[in-house]
Amino acid sequence: MKKGLLILFIVTIYLFFSCNNSFKRPVDKSTADTIYYGGNIITMEGDFVNYVEAIAVKDGKIIFAGTKSDANKLNGTHTKMNDLEGKTLLPGFVDGHSHFSEVGLQSVSANLLSPPDGPVKNIDELQKVLREFMAVSPIVKAHQIVLVMNYDNSQLKEQRSPIRQELDAVSTQLPIIVIHQSGHLAVLNSKALAMVGITADSKNPDGGIIEREADGKTPNGVLQENAFFQIIPKLPLKFTPEEVASMIQTSEAIYIKNGFTTIQDGKTTPVNIKVLPELAKKGAFKVDIVSYPDLVLLSKDSILRGPLMSKKYTNHFRIGGVKITMDGSPQGKTAWFTQPYYKVPAGQDSTYAGYPAFTDEKLIKWFELAYKNNWQLLTHTNGDAAIDQLIRMDKAAAIKYPAKDRRTVMIHGQFLRHDQVKEIMDADIFASLFPLHTFNWGDFHRQSVVGPERAENMSPTGWLLENKMKFSIHSDAPVIFPNSMQLISTAVNRTTRTNYLLGPKQKISPYVALQAMTIWPAYQHFEEDVKGSLVKGKNADFVILDQNPIKADPKKINEIKVMETIKEGKTVYKN
Ligand SMILES: [Zn+2]
Ligand SMILES: [Zn+2]
Repeated sequence: MKKGLLILFIVTIYLFFSCNNSFKRPVDKSTADTIYYGGNIITMEGDFVNYVEAIAVKDGKIIFAGTKSDANKLNGTHTKMNDLEGKTLLPGFVDGHSHFSEVGLQSVSANLLSPPDGPVKNIDELQKVLREFMAVSPIVKAHQIVLVMNYDNSQLKEQRSPIRQELDAVSTQLPIIVIHQSGHLAVLNSKALAMVGITADSKNPDGGIIEREADGKTPNGVLQENAFFQIIPKLPLKFTPEEVASMIQTSEAIYIKNGFTTIQDGKTTPVNIKVLPELAKKGAFKVDIVSYPDLVLLSKDSILRGPLMSKKYTNHFRIGGVKITMDGSPQGKTAWFTQPYYKVPAGQDSTYAGYPAFTDEKLIKWFELAYKNNWQLLTHTNGDAAIDQLIRMDKAAAIKYPAKDRRTVMIHGQFLRHDQVKEIMDADIFASLFPLHTFNWGDFHRQSVVGPERAENMSPTGWLLENKMKFSIHSDAPVIFPNSMQLISTAVNRTTRTNYLLGPKQKISPYVALQAMTIWPAYQHFEEDVKGSLVKGKNADFVILDQNPIKADPKKINEIKVMETIKEGKTVYKN
């Protein structure tokens, strides 16, 4: 090609692209869409509080974080100047662990919680709430089944789960299933037991217990762990696509109102793993949803081997890995410990220490499957025996399938022992802890579950910090409402319902609690390159608070309000 022709060619190409560009975007390329200034802008970069005066956003990304005068250079004719008026701007919260889809189900359930979260203080009141709910619920009317969530035995006057006869008193016509707040056990009335085929002849499944009456045979209605999980597919409750879509939208709104811009769907069910990608395709999600399907139920599903299993979101949805449940709930007294429960449940001898969901022989197969496929594995482990099992399984599977950067996650790890901390650190197991328990069940753990000594160091955020480990804190919603400020408050204050200070050594500063809600869970999800802190190039995912948690009275952190939530530059919630 002659030199003149070459130049003409280049000029033509240049004109073509520049014209093309200017059709899409007539705005000056070098200026920002929005500049935020005039408040406490905390970058969450580094281990000490770091403020900038201004932050500039373009096309959903941060293009600048620094001084106001430098930001002003990006102020063009179309730039929106957003004066924070003293409010606090942070990276959007990243959910360490919860169950996005189930929060939707809770939104159409009765409120069986106890004060301050609900009205139920005893079984009489539980029956009353059920009757009122059944009279008005469109779901009950349409499906002729009563499925409700979140009774809490530890807060009931009777200090136990309701039994079959107490639900029969509400209805013998409709099947009733009442799920414990942990999600690990449920009570069925006689009609529901018959419907799922549980009788005096039914044997306990592996990793589950069908509780019995005094004769040792007749089911009393309470199904623990796998005994409960196995009946779920048998329930004739098939929501319509419209019902599911509406529930999921309600759920997303709850999280967004609390400042979350990334939400986890832990242990996604076979039904929901079909629904969520469909909703994503329709553009239903405003923020990012990362799903971890139930490994046991979905190991053979092609979706785990498809394009959605990715580090990148498509229409705000991706599959991040898989989840497995290894033990139960401490307040439900099914979590697996090395030492017996402080007060063993009725019908158990004094050595009762809970139980695992799987033997080592069965569990290793699941670890190997996940590690072989390089699926990030979330492991529900509460008791210290379950954590020992996690360490054993990880070691064995990692020898067979070594990987440089796997980030297996210990979900809850509530009764992690001091000697286990170094082991999970050496194994590169990421801890997502549950300090909300210190408020919700701290008193019950001291008085009934593990006794005062072991309760002291539950959710040991302080020990992890001592070892300079990253960790996240989570709500496990719908187990506890995804209230971001209460989450930070409990990690900072560790006071129980009766105002007892539980494990002062494990308290963390507000800044560390914010790290555990932003940059560290971003790392947990392999998203630290695009989320979790305010630096050039990352997503413009923000939460704006009416006060600065760093400067507020720690006792009043839970009164701080989310004023606005911003996802990739767009406001998705405004108070
Ligand atoms: Zn769990
Ligand atoms: Zn969970």
